[in-house]
Amino acid sequence: MNRTTGSVALVGAGPGDVELLTLKALRLIQQAEVVVYDRLVGKEILDLIPQSAERHDVGKRCGEKSLSQEQINQLLVDLAQQGKQVIRLKGGDPYVFGRGGEEALCLRQQQIPFTVVPGITAAIGCAASCDIPLTHRGVARSVTLITGHLQAGPGKESLPFMGWSQLLGEGHTLVFYMGLEQAAAIRRGLLGHGQLGQTPVALIVAGTTERQRIVTTTLGELEQAAEALKGETPVLIMVGEVVRLREALHQSCASLLAQVA
Ligand code: SAH
Repeated sequence: MNRTTGSVALVGAGPGDVELLTLKALRLIQQAEVVVYDRLVGKEILDLIPQSAERHDVGKRCGEKSLSQEQINQLLVDLAQQGKQVIRLKGGDPYVFGRGGEEALCLRQQQIPFTVVPGITAAIGCAASCDIPLTHRGVARSVTLITGHLQAGPGKESLPFMGWSQLLGEGHTLVFYMGLEQAAAIRRGLLGHGQLGQTPVALIVAGTTERQRIVTTTLGELEQAAEALKGETPVLIMVGEVVRLREALHQSCASLLAQVA
C-alpha cells in the first residue's frame, strides 16, 4: 500500500482583489511547494507563489482543452502521494460552487490528509464592492446563492428545474453564479412563477478587481443586459429589492465626499 506523507490544502483565493485573501491563505501561498490553480485565480495572487514552486494550471480557457474534474482529483492524489504538500488554490471559497467537496471526498477516499481554508465568496465580495447589502432590515431577510446551471436534481440533468417557486418571495435576495449564459432561463423561470418584471437586477463583472463593471437592470430586461455582456467573465447576477440600495448608498457616499472636499 502506498503510504502517503503528502497533504493537500484546499485554499480559497477570494473574489479577485489580492487584499481579500485571508492571512492563512497568504501564508500557505507564500510557503507553497506545489500549487494547483484555477482560471479564476488572478495574476496578482499567482505572483505571490514562490518562483521555486511547481505550478499546475488546471483552469478552463476558451479554445483550450482543460482537465476534467476527475483528472484534477487524480493530479492532487498523485502529487500528495509523491509526498508533496499541495496547495489547491480556488477562486472565492472552495466549498461554494468550487467543487471543493468533490476534491475533498476523493482525498478522503485515498486517505490523503487535507485541510480547507475558506475564502470570500463572489457574492460577499461583490456585495461590498458594489454597495449592495445582501440582506437589509425591512428589505431582504434571506439570501440564496444558486448556480445558473439549474437542473431538476442530481441524476436528473435532462429534466427541467422545478424549484422556481421556492426561490421567490418578498424579502428574498437571489445571487446566481455562472448565470450569464442562463439569463433567458432565469428570467423565464422567475417571471413564470410570479416574480415581477420590475424586480431590480445587477450584473457584476469581475467584482472587487480593477476590471469591475456593474450593470443594473430589471428582471424583465435581464436577457438584453446579459447579451450586452456576452463573453465577459466572471459575472454574478443579483436579483432582488436590495439592488436599489446601491443608488442610495452611492448618493450618500457622494454627498459625504463633497462635504469633506
Ligand atoms: N468558488 C467561487 C465560485 C466559482 S463558480 C466563489 O466562491 O466565488 C464561478 C462563478 O463565480 C462565475 O461564473 C461567477 O458567477 C462567479 N464569480 C467568481 N468570482 C467573481 C467575481 N470576481 N465577480 C463576479 N462573479 C464572480
